[in-house]
Amino acid sequence: TFLEQPKNHGFHGNRNDNKLLSRQLIGNALRQRVESIDHDLCEAGEEDTFFVADLGEVYRQHLRWKMNLPRVKPFYAVKCNPDPKVLQLLAALGNGFDCASKSEIDQVLDMGVDPSRIIYAQPCKTNSYVRYVAAKNVRQMTFDNADELRKIARFFPEAELYLRILTDDSSSLCRLSQKFGASLDSTEALLSLAAQLGLNVVGVSFHVGSGASDPLAFLKAVRDAHTVFQQAAAYGFELKTLDVGGGFCADETFERMAGVLRNALDEYFPAHSGVNIIAEPGRFYVSAAFTIACNIIARRTLEDPAAMNLNIDPADSTSTLVNRGENSYMLYVNDGLYGNFSCIMFDHQSPEAKILRAGGRNYYDTDAAHATTDAQGVEYSIWGPTCDGIDRITESIKFDNILDVGDWLYFEDMGAYTKCSATKFNGFTADHSCIYVCSEPGALALLGTCML
Ligand code: PLP
Repeated sequence: TFLEQPKNHGFHGNRNDNKLLSRQLIGNALRQRVESIDHDLCEAGEEDTFFVADLGEVYRQHLRWKMNLPRVKPFYAVKCNPDPKVLQLLAALGNGFDCASKSEIDQVLDMGVDPSRIIYAQPCKTNSYVRYVAAKNVRQMTFDNADELRKIARFFPEAELYLRILTDDSSSLCRLSQKFGASLDSTEALLSLAAQLGLNVVGVSFHVGSGASDPLAFLKAVRDAHTVFQQAAAYGFELKTLDVGGGFCADETFERMAGVLRNALDEYFPAHSGVNIIAEPGRFYVSAAFTIACNIIARRTLEDPAAMNLNIDPADSTSTLVNRGENSYMLYVNDGLYGNFSCIMFDHQSPEAKILRAGGRNYYDTDAAHATTDAQGVEYSIWGPTCDGIDRITESIKFDNILDVGDWLYFEDMGAYTKCSATKFNGFTADHSCIYVCSEPGALALLGTCML
């Protein structure tokens, strides 16, 4: 589904206006969908979890990127969220793409994107994929070890190679350096081998870890990359491009990260050096653009044994045990750790439940939608639909409302590393539907020209 913005939405080109419009559009889409479902009569699965995506948010992030890192061309990391409309929009905005597998490469090429706008940023590639990208003329790829260089020499000697170096990823949510990256002790030997094999090294890449929080990691990595540029020159390589990877969060840390990176680039790779700068941002673009709605499919009431045994008067507000006379509940929703909430396991996130609809009333974006810290609040734990005990979204949360089967919760910031790593465990779908809205006319205009 694609819901356009209302014609008369009062857009004045102000980013804050558009944020407001974004919430209106998302709220309308959520409400329309859940109100259209008759929970007693609907088809099996009609009340399944669904996403609402605001492509305007992706567009706003692009403008934010351009404003903060004007010299750095983004190659969106497809792995983060390969949503076709997101890819379409980013292609129309002129971005490149970081792909890690044949199917990601196919998805991007099938949109008509030129192979030169793809970097195969996986330092340890499958032989047959290397042959495949050679046939497709996707020339840019990363490497970080000698075995990989020999593989490339065998299957695609004309490839344009980026030497991925090790970084300090200790401040990141998802650490990558234990698996990838050549230490500065090994870079000369790798460059020497690449020269012997007659390969074409064109740049250096790094990744400071996904969800990084220490801007200084970028400074150190840029400095190390500069050292490798000098080493490469000694082996006859004239490197043309620095790839500063991903790791950018969408929150306010971005401006700080970008500031440090901008200064480091200006110091070590100034514009007059002629070095192109690219990056591989993933979560930065999509995390805030996707909201997910989940239906409460079952509830278990936990009667408080303390209240039963102690005969507490719940009306006695002087008692410290006053709330222990209340029940608490286990809520079971139709998505969980094996589904879109895989981000809890793999991406170390803690998605925050909010009330979308309860007892026939809508709560999106109201104060009552939020958890309460009030001692009188009703306590819930929130669980996914599978039979595994690990499948828990929230250990403990309090709301003012009593929630029951048929009510709906929503979770914001669900765009990064969610749907892409969902499984079909227990036979639940991993292919939830998405309603698209667009709070930025600029994005809508671009999408209009390249709708699937
Ligand atoms: N590039 C590479 C090689 C990655 O492995 C990743 C994430 O794992 C990314 C880019 C995207 O990182 P992020 O989503 O933190 O920007």
